[in-house]
Amino acid sequence: MSTVTDTLRECHRLRIHLKALQEEIDRGPRVLKAQQARLAQQQQAHKDHHDAITKLKLKQREEEGTLKQTEVRLAKLESQLTSTANQKEKEYEAKQSEIRQAREKKEALEDAILATMAALEEKVVAVAAVDKQWAEAQADFAQSQEDAKVRLARLKADQVESQAALLKAETGIPAKNRATYDFLVKAHGPAALTPVKDRVCQACRTGIHEQKVMEVNSGAFALCSTCGKMLYPTE
Ligand SMILES: [Zn+2]
Repeated sequence: MSTVTDTLRECHRLRIHLKALQEEIDRGPRVLKAQQARLAQQQQAHKDHHDAITKLKLKQREEEGTLKQTEVRLAKLESQLTSTANQKEKEYEAKQSEIRQAREKKEALEDAILATMAALEEKVVAVAAVDKQWAEAQADFAQSQEDAKVRLARLKADQVESQAALLKAETGIPAKNRATYDFLVKAHGPAALTPVKDRVCQACRTGIHEQKVMEVNSGAFALCSTCGKMLYPTE
């Protein structure tokens, strides 16, 4: 037959376990929120990559359009130069200056187009990896949701089972001590109970009187005279 202190030990174990279960259940929504934030971030990164490609393609088209215009203008200027060759020197110089500027612009545009193409190429090459990464992120998220569902079901089943076991164990507390027990666990939770090891209360680390240690060891209900917690001997 189990003693009162055996009952207290069991109640302590179950109450610690129930508290840990509740904490883990409560953590669920916070974990989910963090995972959702991470998924949103990964989705944004994926979208940004594809948007960057669209923008670079547009930029390349615009630069090529401007280059074409510049080339047409340059050809026109050059043909005018031939026809103005016989004209006044001043006009000739002005035309040459215009041609020089148009050529510089053409070169700058060609460089810009090359840079845009290189940037675009880099992004396009990375598309497969970026798409794969996003697909994996979604699969990971779905898997973690599934895992969380299974875990939560397990935690809740354990909770129901442990709660029933606690109620059953608590029937072993003598009626005369029940009010004290209820009051203390309501105030302190699992910390209302504590083992005594080597004549020392493990809650407040204070030495316990020899007489009380003997009572506790014999299985009687007793409180630490320093911290007021319910005592039971370590096994
Ligand atoms: Zn104590």
